[in-house]
Amino acid sequence: MTAEIINGKDLSTELKLEMKAEVEALKEKGLIPHLTVVLIGNNPASKSYVKGKEKAAAETGISSSIVELPASTTETELLQLIQELNEDTSVHGILVQLPLPEQIREKKVIEAIHPDKDVDGFHPINIGKMMAGEDTFLPCTPYGIITMLKSKNIKIEGKHAVVIGRSNIVGKPVGQLLLNENATVTYCHSRTKNLQELAANADILIAAIGRAHAITADYIKEGAVVIDVGINRLENGSLTGDVDFESAKEKASYITPVPRGVGPMTITMLLKNTIKAAKGLSNIEG
Ligand code: NDP
Repeated sequence: MTAEIINGKDLSTELKLEMKAEVEALKEKGLIPHLTVVLIGNNPASKSYVKGKEKAAAETGISSSIVELPASTTETELLQLIQELNEDTSVHGILVQLPLPEQIREKKVIEAIHPDKDVDGFHPINIGKMMAGEDTFLPCTPYGIITMLKSKNIKIEGKHAVVIGRSNIVGKPVGQLLLNENATVTYCHSRTKNLQELAANADILIAAIGRAHAITADYIKEGAVVIDVGINRLENGSLTGDVDFESAKEKASYITPVPRGVGPMTITMLLKNTIKAAKGLSNIEG
């Protein structure tokens, strides 16, 4: 079997076109969704992510602004800025780009963002709502993964989903969303004893580890759906996933590539969340 590729870049383009039309309609009602991104310090990867977010927002007509602060910014200064953004009615979504300089506690920052403007879906209130299956801002990468599965009408209900990785931003929430869709979910991590055996039992396998090509064909059941979240930079500078794509695609039924897989979907879902925030804060249906 050669797997069908789920191309996240193409799906993102489609979704952004839909959002563009939605944003135009909102603008006619006097609402311009606005995302403010806060970037602290000079981390090149963070700078490039923020640029990508700005570009994608512009493609959909969402207005965005970037607040750049020096690496020496104190926690108090950042919390003060977040408070001002919480109170600014022209700002609908607030995103503080991670990682933060060591003098600033990530937890404090995440908890300071008003849950109604938390377009990253990291605030404990929104995580709690997600766990309870309530309508809320879903964290962008897991939301993108579920959207990719649904775009191909892949059945989740009753399937055995194995998630490798248990981070707060990817592994844990993607497992929860799969559970919400009635999958039977197994979480694996660095202390899991029989990783290969568990993975090879998955109907849906999510690799969110951060180790290039850790998941070879031996970890994949014939016909499984394989979602590769990993973004790893090789010595030659190219990007690759956690899955050994070439061997895996011969066994899987569906597979996501890296690049052009989960990555573009993450930014796209951020835009979806920004539109949701703008509508929610303005009480506009649609
Ligand atoms: P973390 O480093 O926070 O988590 C990695 C997880 O993998 C941990 O739970 C860890 O286990 C587990 N793990 C590490 N080594 C092994 C191993 N040998 N066997 C089994 N499990 C292992 O990473 P993130 O969740 O933030 O990201 C994961 C990957 O996804 C990275 O490559 C990252 O760049 C990428 N990513 C991609 C995004 C996208 O948009 N496509 C968005 C976010 C991340 P333990 O908990 O026991 O330490």
